[in-house]
Amino acid sequence: MAVTQATQTMEAVAVTPGQAQSARMVTMPRPAVAPGRLLMRVLEVGIDGTDTEINNAQYGEAPAGSDFLVIGHEGLSRVEAVGEGVRGFSAGDLVVATVRRPDGCANCQAGESDMCLTGRYTERGIRGAHGYMAQFYDEVPDFLVKIPPELRSFAVLLEPLSVVEKAVFQAWKIQERLVWQPKRAVILGAGTIGVLAAILLRLRGLEVHVYATTPEDDDRARLVGSLGAAYHDVNRHPLAGLAEELGQIDYILEATGVSSVAFQAIGAVGVDGVVCLVGISGGNRQIEVPGDQLNLRLVIGNRVVFGSVNANRRYFEMGVQHFEEGQRRWPGIFERLITRRVPFNDFRSALDRRPTDIKTLLTIGG
Ligand SMILES: [Zn+2]
Repeated sequence: MAVTQATQTMEAVAVTPGQAQSARMVTMPRPAVAPGRLLMRVLEVGIDGTDTEINNAQYGEAPAGSDFLVIGHEGLSRVEAVGEGVRGFSAGDLVVATVRRPDGCANCQAGESDMCLTGRYTERGIRGAHGYMAQFYDEVPDFLVKIPPELRSFAVLLEPLSVVEKAVFQAWKIQERLVWQPKRAVILGAGTIGVLAAILLRLRGLEVHVYATTPEDDDRARLVGSLGAAYHDVNRHPLAGLAEELGQIDYILEATGVSSVAFQAIGAVGVDGVVCLVGISGGNRQIEVPGDQLNLRLVIGNRVVFGSVNANRRYFEMGVQHFEEGQRRWPGIFERLITRRVPFNDFRSALDRRPTDIKTLLTIGG
């Protein structure tokens, strides 16, 4: 067989799933521009707890036929080339790709792969599909969301924002069960998810209280404060006194993943209120909870507790709208979440999370 073109290669950060601290740079073939697909040049990738946990071998699954997994699921890219038959995209467009890829279940086929029934989905950079911590990737247009150029400096936050969009939208959807005029919200955790949630809930006009473990003179406390939200250090304001301290709480977003905190949230939410759990518990902790009291409160107060994971493209599109709205209301607010930018070759330093980090970015292309 005649070789007409030497295969082009690219660099990527990959792990061997199941093997702790295996993150390394690999050289692999650069994807070709196939009909119906687009080739993207990756600009930057956000790091989150999932990446660190995959590198700690807590989970992660290589694509079929590969013994490694390219990680990274929060990527901002530029369209490098548009395959034959693709409409609506041009070379140079900024895009963020969604993470989950559907299987054949009814929800996946309806564009709601975040609600997959079977669990047989794949997720780029996490489970069964390579991610975006590479110089290039290719994708079909259905999973690409276009980003207006003026959002370039922080649009990499769109994937975590999409998770928060879903957690908020679903709560409001659930609350269509009653006349709901929420006034007060509590957010547990002040990482990227917590701060983005504070932004969305302030945009909805709620009184917002963020509880986290960092001191009240910390940068993230100031960031929360500049939104007109209140920041509380749990060492000074224990969660056990949450309901007494604040009164009626209409919505609680639990983003710490600490199960004892999740149950405290369930115990603190007000009458007709709703608790959304988005924090992933990594351990196997057994805790004691006041079961009778919690059950009684849920029943007699019509309270709802629900979990929320991942996000489909609709929530990414909402995120683009809220980027624009948030930026108008608090110019520069989203950039303030990006506390560290690390060059591609220093990926190990990016994966090594520091207590002062909100969002760390790996800079890959220009
Ligand atoms: Zn499915």
